[in-house]
Amino acid sequence: MDKIRMTTPLVEMDGDEMTRILWADIKKLLIEPFVDLKTEYYDLGLPHRDETDDQVTLDSAYAAEKYGVAVKCATITPNMQRMEEYHLKKMWKSPNGTIRSILDGTVFRAPILVDGVHPTVRTWKKPITIARHAYGDIYKNVEMAVPGPGKAELVFTGEDGQEIRKTIHEFRGPGVLQGVHNLDSSITSFAHSCFRYALSEKLDLWFSTKDTISKTYHHRFKDIFEALYEKEYKQAFADAGITYFYTLIDDAVARVVRSEGGFLWACLNYDGDVMSDMIATAFGSLAMMTSVLVSPSGKYEYEAAHGTVTRHYYRYLKGEETSTNPVATIFAWVGALRKRGELDGLTDLIAFSDSLKAATLDTIQAGIMTKDLALLHEGEVQGVTSRVFMEAIQARLVSLMQARA
Ligand code: NAP
Ligand code: MG
Repeated sequence: MDKIRMTTPLVEMDGDEMTRILWADIKKLLIEPFVDLKTEYYDLGLPHRDETDDQVTLDSAYAAEKYGVAVKCATITPNMQRMEEYHLKKMWKSPNGTIRSILDGTVFRAPILVDGVHPTVRTWKKPITIARHAYGDIYKNVEMAVPGPGKAELVFTGEDGQEIRKTIHEFRGPGVLQGVHNLDSSITSFAHSCFRYALSEKLDLWFSTKDTISKTYHHRFKDIFEALYEKEYKQAFADAGITYFYTLIDDAVARVVRSEGGFLWACLNYDGDVMSDMIATAFGSLAMMTSVLVSPSGKYEYEAAHGTVTRHYYRYLKGEETSTNPVATIFAWVGALRKRGELDGLTDLIAFSDSLKAATLDTIQAGIMTKDLALLHEGEVQGVTSRVFMEAIQARLVSLMQARA
């Protein structure tokens, strides 16, 4: 078989622990035998981040900006215990946070559905993708305890000296106060990312806030989405046969539970925080959740939603063969290779990524899966090691590729 050619390199961001081990195996078993893989490699493993004073993380984000598509392995976000374990110079920031702030992107999380593993909500037949606005609101709040009687005011002082003042509450006794904010620029970026992702995945877009109660703050989100939709996306949505739908958050929650799934749900920061865990749990497992960061200008970074699976790594270091689920990481590669293929007009690369996806799902359908999935599966199946699972995918992939050739 001739290997599939690539024209533009994929930005490859390697990571840590068990997922780093899976990463190398995925490349060796499932990609390199079929694709003449062209990547610009960045080692985001913690030791190398420490060596480069985290410059490698910045460089990888700029490369993602330059080339447009990246694939990332899970990475350790250091804490005190990691400082000691890795003898770090500094408690480096979360790579995902750094990359997200450079690309100014929104994270979209979608579950991978397989036959035999049923969502808790019986009506859900298709994945529900969540987009969480990751700036402001209570995550950048200023709070205080009110000691006793007195007046609380909201005051804005313009650079020109203009002052706007509103009374929040006349306290008769102790209580609490909180100030939150958001930015038109950030809301606009979020809206662009959501509209673009909906178009890229051909998904209806739902957006929800509580604008009946928050008539200025939440309403601003609704207005920005609406204006952008009317101005830039309405025709493209009609052409793609998808819809944009706004509703109140409580109505959205009720509709989501009654739905069949198969749409993108854009949420404010807090709603997204809460709802993404609800959706992930109801669909089954974090090991079957993909994640993609989309920038407002249309740059994509694909990864698995789970972490580096530390507990399995320590067992691996003791020489044990682990049964760590590589599916979300394989799907990150599938997404990135497919997007690269679309952008560069490489039909063979698109077909390969579709085959890799099909071979993975087919393997699970045939009853071969890692232990975490076997536990969720309705049938009596025995979990296998990551290696056995990936070899089974490889065998199916070879047949699929030979059938195409
Ligand atoms: P985790 O790596 O997601 O693992 C938590 C537990 O979930 C595992 O111990 C395992 O349960 C199960 N699990 C997760 N992924 C699995 C998979 N692919 N296959 C099988 N089981 C899986 O979360 P964590 O232990 O809280 O975090 C570990 C490290 O990852 C931390 O250093 C954190 O900073 C980092 N992290 C990185 C990212 C990212 O880069 N995007 C995201 C989250 C966390 P059992 O042990 O019961 O089998
Ligand atoms: Mg949370």
